[in-house]
Amino acid sequence: MDTYDVIVIGTGAGGGTLARHLAPSGKRILLLERGDWLPRELENWLTGSVFVDNRYVSPDTWYDHQGTPFQPGVHYFVGGATKLYGAALYRLRKEDFGELTHHDGISPAWPISYDELEPYYTLAEQLYEVHGARGEDPTEPPASGPYPHPAVSHEPRIQQLSDDLEAAGFHPFHAPCGIMLDEENMPFSRCVRCASCDGFPCLVHAKSDAEVLGVRPALEHPNVTLLTNSKVVRLETDDGGSSVAAVVVEREGGEERVAADLVVVACGAANTAKLLLQSTSDKHPNGLANGSDQVGRNYMFHDSTAVLALSREPNATAYQKTLGLNDFYFGSDDFEYPLGNVQMVGKSQAEMFRGERPRETRLAPEWTLEMMAKHAIDFWLSTEDLPRPENRVTVDGDGKLTLTYTETNLETKKHLYGKVKSMLGQLDMNPDHLIHRFAYMKNDIPIAGCAHQAGTARFGTDPASSVLNVDCRAHELDNLYVVDTSVFPSIGAVNPALTAMANSLRVGDHLLERMK
Ligand SMILES: Cc1cc2nc3c(=O)[nH]c(=O)nc-3n(C[C@H](O)[C@H](O)[C@H](O)COP(=O)(O)OP(=O)(O)OC[C@H]3O[C@@H](n4cnc5c(N)ncnc54)[C@H](O)[C@@H]3O)c2cc1C
Ligand code: SF4
Repeated sequence: MDTYDVIVIGTGAGGGTLARHLAPSGKRILLLERGDWLPRELENWLTGSVFVDNRYVSPDTWYDHQGTPFQPGVHYFVGGATKLYGAALYRLRKEDFGELTHHDGISPAWPISYDELEPYYTLAEQLYEVHGARGEDPTEPPASGPYPHPAVSHEPRIQQLSDDLEAAGFHPFHAPCGIMLDEENMPFSRCVRCASCDGFPCLVHAKSDAEVLGVRPALEHPNVTLLTNSKVVRLETDDGGSSVAAVVVEREGGEERVAADLVVVACGAANTAKLLLQSTSDKHPNGLANGSDQVGRNYMFHDSTAVLALSREPNATAYQKTLGLNDFYFGSDDFEYPLGNVQMVGKSQAEMFRGERPRETRLAPEWTLEMMAKHAIDFWLSTEDLPRPENRVTVDGDGKLTLTYTETNLETKKHLYGKVKSMLGQLDMNPDHLIHRFAYMKNDIPIAGCAHQAGTARFGTDPASSVLNVDCRAHELDNLYVVDTSVFPSIGAVNPALTAMANSLRVGDHLLERMK
């Protein structure tokens, strides 16, 4: 059996970032990724291929609690979901690390404070080349340094939106963007500022994803090995059951075993839970690290709504994701609980609508969709989803994954939608036309839109109510760690990737210290 110092399972925001951080140590590191390299091909930027044909969505079938099958919006590639993500790289708010009271209950505190994660947010922003402007967003948490790159400028219609919002008394800000855009020197800019970013892979590798800025830099070190098309199916422990002794990998039609002093799982929230739950043994009959019966529970995925507002004037914006609004993050004058974040989503294109609501739009006359797309200004509204033990991932003996989920904070989500709608009259948009858009949910089953999945192996100080300790090591195993969004005790209302990256760097420092 080949042995390593560290095995990292999964190469997305958590795993890919960790690989880069550990690589210079010279330790023998093995990355195991079930997917392949995402091919660079014209289809990367073809709306029909990406949004209608689901070219980059895994063919997995999962089931809801009634046993109804659905195709989850998950992506198995080197770089994981970040290959397709919108690269809006937000920090959680400082308050998100404490306990917050929501309409539907409590958003629990994290076992670490914002201040403890802050240096790692700064490092993650540097590694992922985040563009932004400090001081514009009133809810912004304190930062030890400026963004490493200047904010991405608004295109004219979004600049007008920003001006209109300010005139109406709001506080729009330049959103933190992970794109390698050099507006001062466009002939040499890697990013060409195209209209096919959010939800698409980047054909020119200019998006700050975990393949380009995590795995590839890690592989420059000869001590790092990547095996693609290598799906981990089980973790086996030593006889005492106190450490992982073998990682069982399905590859090239067979099963192989590899081992390491330290094993780090970063398969994404649902798949990390699945792997732990599948790894049963006499010592761990309910799955690995699951003495507390918490593995798979507290699944969260944001109460998000993609909506398009119809501007009276056409909206010619290409790269739209430059503006955010957190005026309602902690509530509003008519709602005492946190409402959430408002940001822009990738500009809608006529062809996308067909992939979203086939029955309603496939037969619609082309010009209607095009008119809509031409005038659309597209928003992404996120309300915090609360962790509930009954919202959970379970796996049966055949590996069939069931996602039992009931939305939380629905009233809050509706209220946020109402707030945005009520602003529109002031913003040169038709107040009657704010239309739901299911950009990441092609399926009628909302749980399929699991882009922001989190929370299935939360970290905490109490082994009875958490899976991992404060270092994100399994309470019950001395060499098993988790570094993806599974670890989140609560998810906040901003996008999760930068927090996963920052926490991975924090855990990475602990691992480096441990390996000294
Ligand atoms: C369309 C889309 C848009 C998004 N936009 C944003 C955004 O703008 N901002 C933001 O912050 N977040 C965004 N997200 C969410 C963000 O991408 C995720 O939160 C983040 O990638 C999660 O990181 P992770 O490490 O938990 O999982 P992932 O990045 O999904 O990585 C998990 C990896 O594990 C691999 N894997 C799974 N199971 C196994 C196994 N058994 N064996 C081996 N490998 C395995 C997978 O193939 C994958 O590579 C978006 C997501 C999507 C899908
Ligand atoms: S906007 Fe830039 S980073 Fe995004 S897909 Fe286009 S070229 Fe790539």
